[in-house]
Amino acid sequence: MPNETILPKPLNLIGGKWVPAASGEEMDVRSPLDGEVFTSIAASQPEDVDAAVRAARAAFDSGAWGEMPAAERGRLMQKISLAILDEAEALAQLETRDNGKPLKQSRADMVACARYFEFYGGAADKVHGEVIPFMAGYNVQVHREPFGVIACIIPWNYPSQMFGRALAPALAMGNATVLKPAEDACLTCLRLAEIAGEVGFPEGAINVVTGRGDVAGKALSEHPGVDFIAFTGSPEVGQMIQIAAAKNYIACTLELGGKSPQIVFDDADIEAALPFLVGGIIANAGQTCSAGSRILIQEGVYDKVIAGLKERFEGIEASDLSEKAVLGPVISAKQKKRVEAYIEGADAPLIARGTVRKGAPEGGYYVAPALFGPVDPKSRIGQEEVFGPVLCAMTFKDEADALRIANDTEYGLMASIWTRDGNRQQRLAKRLRGGQVYINGFGAGGGIELPFGGVRKSGHGREKGFAALLEFSQIKTIIHKHD
Ligand code: NAD
Repeated sequence: MPNETILPKPLNLIGGKWVPAASGEEMDVRSPLDGEVFTSIAASQPEDVDAAVRAARAAFDSGAWGEMPAAERGRLMQKISLAILDEAEALAQLETRDNGKPLKQSRADMVACARYFEFYGGAADKVHGEVIPFMAGYNVQVHREPFGVIACIIPWNYPSQMFGRALAPALAMGNATVLKPAEDACLTCLRLAEIAGEVGFPEGAINVVTGRGDVAGKALSEHPGVDFIAFTGSPEVGQMIQIAAAKNYIACTLELGGKSPQIVFDDADIEAALPFLVGGIIANAGQTCSAGSRILIQEGVYDKVIAGLKERFEGIEASDLSEKAVLGPVISAKQKKRVEAYIEGADAPLIARGTVRKGAPEGGYYVAPALFGPVDPKSRIGQEEVFGPVLCAMTFKDEADALRIANDTEYGLMASIWTRDGNRQQRLAKRLRGGQVYINGFGAGGGIELPFGGVRKSGHGREKGFAALLEFSQIKTIIHKHD
């Protein structure tokens, strides 16, 4: 069990105060480790969302956050970064209970969350404007200013990382925020927001409303008081968000799904590649938007790569022993059913299946990992995002064939190329569709410093890196005519 002292109460954070949903309604929270209810959260309604947006607006309009000197905002963000690291172990335990991921992953997520605040806190006073040479008698300045109120709607797969990824750049630019975390895993977000208050963030700079996506999330995305939406989640909901944003004439970033390819050429260092080929789909039980769910293997090394993958897959055990596990449960009974339906309905040969630990709780949401191949790139399992520990191996003849298959999905988020040929590395890196391309590596999203995002069904806009600061701010040109 997580440290009970940081187990959040079923409350929303609105204007610096912890309040129940106005309706008094709550929702049960189940742990994926055993399927048992262990706490509850507030089931917010549109009126709770409205109160949160108003609180954010008040914090923004009062200047308490947006007009705080950028260096001071940055200092507060450094403080929360250190406070998160101080509490990292308890937060990681809570994340694992709530989300099911192995503790090693939860611990890494806390370091990443702290790093987002460190990186963007350090950058807060380094986003400079420009002076444009214009006609005589004019002084033209280009300023970067906050939008005002940013709505952050995030999924359950990396709650604390997403807290940092969405909120830190938005806050660094002086925006006030309303966060709607996912109903399936949001407890660390509540505690992280509380820590922000403890280190001195002004009331209303961060507001959190929990509850159902189609109720609280919908109300937030449609709220006329919101100036920009940062959404991470499924393509289906992403499309609704874009429509809601359009109705209010505001912009949004969409970080959606993927079917990311790892391409292995005959000349690749296969021993070096194998841990990444496996890790790209096993990390977080495959519930990563940038999971490497397709392995494209050149014909000459197909058997060798498959033999390596098979051996590793057969050795992987989905487990509840979070301290030791490399693969935990998936997030919910619904997700387990969905992933298993893909496995059972796959129109491709099953090469290997891992196991579920004997003695793991019956009610937990464990899925033994599956390796399929050769998969027809056009087949359902070769095209659709499973969001589980399911790997599709495909073959290709030459570079042109590899590029065609890699780019032939509706998605475009991440890709990797395994080859020793430097010219091929450069040619392909430029032609592969997506926001990040790895060469002889694969990093499930990469570092905090590195811009990340997709094209088409994977979304648009860039988060992470300096790019996020530009996304979460707007340009104002001030034209001063003088004598
Ligand atoms: P989801 O789209 O159902 O939910 C995401 C968030 O949106 C949650 O907070 C949810 O409550 C909210 N939501 C749901 N319906 C809504 C509505 N009608 N209006 C407004 N908000 C609503 O996605 P999920 O099932 O939580 O997450 C899985 C999906 O997210 C996968 O498809 C995955 O690829 C994607 N994902 C993408 C990234 C990325 O960075 N690109 C990261 C994580 C997950």
